[in-house]
Amino acid sequence: MTVTHLRWTAVAAVLALSLAVAAQAPPLTVLSREGRKPLPITAINNRDYVAVDDLNSAFGTSAREDRLAGGLTISLRGRSIVLTVEQNVVSVSGRLVNLPSPPVRRDNRWFVPVEFLPRALSLLLDTRLDLRRPARLLVVGDVRVPRVVARVDAGITNVAVTFEVTPPTEARVTAQAGRLVVQFEADVLDLALPSLPPQTFLTGLTAGDTPNTVVLTTGPRYASYRVTTSQADAGSGRLTVDLLPAATTDAPAAPAVAAPDARLVIPSQAPATGLRTVVIDPGHGGEELGTQGAKGTLEKDVTLSVARRLRTLIESRLGAKVFLTREDDRTVSLDDRSAFANNHQADVFLSLHANSAVRPALKGAEVYFLTVERADEEARKRAGDQATTLPALGGGSRDIDLILWETAQARYLEQSAALAGFVEQALADRVEMSPRAVRQAPFRVLVGANMPAVLVEIGYLSNAEQETQLASGSYRDQVAQALLDALIKFRGFLEH
Ligand SMILES: [Zn+2]
Repeated sequence: MTVTHLRWTAVAAVLALSLAVAAQAPPLTVLSREGRKPLPITAINNRDYVAVDDLNSAFGTSAREDRLAGGLTISLRGRSIVLTVEQNVVSVSGRLVNLPSPPVRRDNRWFVPVEFLPRALSLLLDTRLDLRRPARLLVVGDVRVPRVVARVDAGITNVAVTFEVTPPTEARVTAQAGRLVVQFEADVLDLALPSLPPQTFLTGLTAGDTPNTVVLTTGPRYASYRVTTSQADAGSGRLTVDLLPAATTDAPAAPAVAAPDARLVIPSQAPATGLRTVVIDPGHGGEELGTQGAKGTLEKDVTLSVARRLRTLIESRLGAKVFLTREDDRTVSLDDRSAFANNHQADVFLSLHANSAVRPALKGAEVYFLTVERADEEARKRAGDQATTLPALGGGSRDIDLILWETAQARYLEQSAALAGFVEQALADRVEMSPRAVRQAPFRVLVGANMPAVLVEIGYLSNAEQETQLASGSYRDQVAQALLDALIKFRGFLEH
């Protein structure tokens, strides 16, 4: 075998191997005081690798290969990292560092897994290298790059844009022609923006011209804004920009009476047309207790009691058929609950729950309708583990099952939003409301519902005063009466 032949065989083998397992991947963005620049990434065996020559030009290091030993030394200012091909362990100035996969030598180039950057190269540079994989960012040193995750909640009479900022970072909002600019005290933002729900307050939510700003492009219903800030949890801050309309004349009219000790009002009867069948879903049941108050009040008992009271009211006052997803204390799956409503051809689906929060001061009722996210890459990723975590009002988080775009409920979002508005107004006349009373969230129980559907959190069992209320028959009656009022309004809405 000649030397030439041997070399060509080797080249052919390397080429074949490269085609099989190496591929171009999106680059990392390196953020430093000097600005941002891309760092090319090569996927090798489905892992992200960086070429050592690219590292050298990005960080000013130099490399020397020892072909006989199959090793490579990367140096800077008298310090060095020694790599050995196909070895997971590298030596950084004599200290051993583990890598999730070994360095690879290919086409006369050396490649290291991206974890090499924070684990080994940062020791050589004596600088923090923060690898943020979802955003494909490498943050160098003390650059201020807060993680900013935005959420949009569309209500009937407002749209709230909430930024969860980690770590907490000062921000200010300025109004310009046709837009609001949110400027953070940061060098650059590690930004996650959602797609917008259908509404007309906000037509765009984008990164601004400077790397520390976000721009809200306002829509036809927008007239003014209100900013509130709060602590999301120990490590995060929260900034909410509420977009408000000029007048509420096109919003559903609020009932005129709001007596503090409102008695049960019997509304006038009207022929049932658009609202023939109502399904009420008492949350939880059986082994699933739901949340629990300090004095032992169980969510599953509260929801069943309110559901029974509401059924009696609807049957006598609205003349509609009413079915409960559970008649007693039993376990029913979330999917079975919406399937039950579909099987009964319900015209409306009301899911009843009681809330809990880490902060005991939080109280008031809340109404939710479904958020539907487009099946983008992130949603698909989360679909993989079937659940996602939603930051809960006032700290902590709750696990919720994931929603995809292609759902039964997607077609009813507008009607559900209207129903949520009626429920919110009716509840506000009779019981205390949370500051953000109408919200959107991807609740699994609403997804499969093939009709307008809302989820009502009728109060906080984690609040001592509210636990007493939720345990009382009079409060349960007030909630049931409010839900009846809302259904009467909604029936009028459907008949238009
Ligand atoms: Zn619940």
